[in-house]
Amino acid sequence: MANDIKYSVIVPMFNEQEVIAETYRRLKIVLGTLNEEYELLFVNDGSRDRTTEIVRALCLVDPNVRMLSFARNFGHQVAISAGMDHAQGQAIIVIDADLQDPPEVILEMISKWKEGYEVIYGKRLTRRGESIFKKWTAHVFYRFLKTMTSFEIPVDTGDFRLIDRKVCDVMKTLTEKNRYVRGLISWVGFRQTAVEYDREERWAGETKYPLRKMIQFAMDAIGSFSYKPLRLATYLGFSLSGISFLYFLIVVYQKLLTNSTITGWSSIVAINLFFNGIMLVILGIIGEYIGRIYDESKGRPLYIIQEKTGYQKQQSAPAE
Ligand code: UDP
Ligand code: MG
Repeated sequence: MANDIKYSVIVPMFNEQEVIAETYRRLKIVLGTLNEEYELLFVNDGSRDRTTEIVRALCLVDPNVRMLSFARNFGHQVAISAGMDHAQGQAIIVIDADLQDPPEVILEMISKWKEGYEVIYGKRLTRRGESIFKKWTAHVFYRFLKTMTSFEIPVDTGDFRLIDRKVCDVMKTLTEKNRYVRGLISWVGFRQTAVEYDREERWAGETKYPLRKMIQFAMDAIGSFSYKPLRLATYLGFSLSGISFLYFLIVVYQKLLTNSTITGWSSIVAINLFFNGIMLVILGIIGEYIGRIYDESKGRPLYIIQEKTGYQKQQSAPAE
């Protein structure tokens, strides 16, 4: 399977019909300046709009474009992973479809790669056009995650990055299901560095990360890189038992050695509710981890590909 492809650009897409033409145009300009072979790999994550037809048409006219279409929506992180499984280049770049990550930054990443770095991640200096809520939750999330993990995951970085073929080959061996790709890339090590950039506004369309997906994403990140929540549950259990025991001593003292009568139907109910709440939270935390074990044990594939387009012409396609 020898090929001369130097760069693979992976673009995950979920209902991105509004942005494809512009994303393709901007990427083409950047990649055109490189004078080396490249492939543009659009991973169509179960889009239900016209994304599939538009990319299919691009595959017909441009031999450097390929598309993997999933049988349904498997999620952004899985789409990136599928792209890595199929990328053929020596340097693999992951970029969002909505032009929030400026394609021109790829050139900076490539020059760092040529200096010998094996992972070059984009670090966001500013984020434009995103809600205060999103910026704030992202800010808190990255810092919280940092306290939860025992190794370094750089803060304020997304999936916009360049990885070397060696790193990509290692990534392909990691088969876990609920994945947090940027964490996994940090975890594998190699020589890593950052390129700073300002995050732009989304070119068109709407965010494909509603609150529900954001929460799931955060849970996956914490769940796959830390068991500290379980430990916190243990600490909480011990502390509350300790406090309860002290309170018990006070009650015994009041009952036996003082004349005060102990009242309180309402305090019993309040304390009960409080402890039941904590118990349910702890059960939920344990459940999160059991769910992950369950997902792993089923051994289902990470994604299902319904259509692969743009590969047939590869051998005969002339280099640009
Ligand atoms: N995306 C995807 N599958 C999903 C959700 C998002 O492939 O289930 C893609 C999306 O098309 C985009 C990238 O992931 O290329 C980032 O999504 P988006 O820009 O909507 O997220 P935000 O920047 O708002 O966090
Ligand atoms: Mg975006």
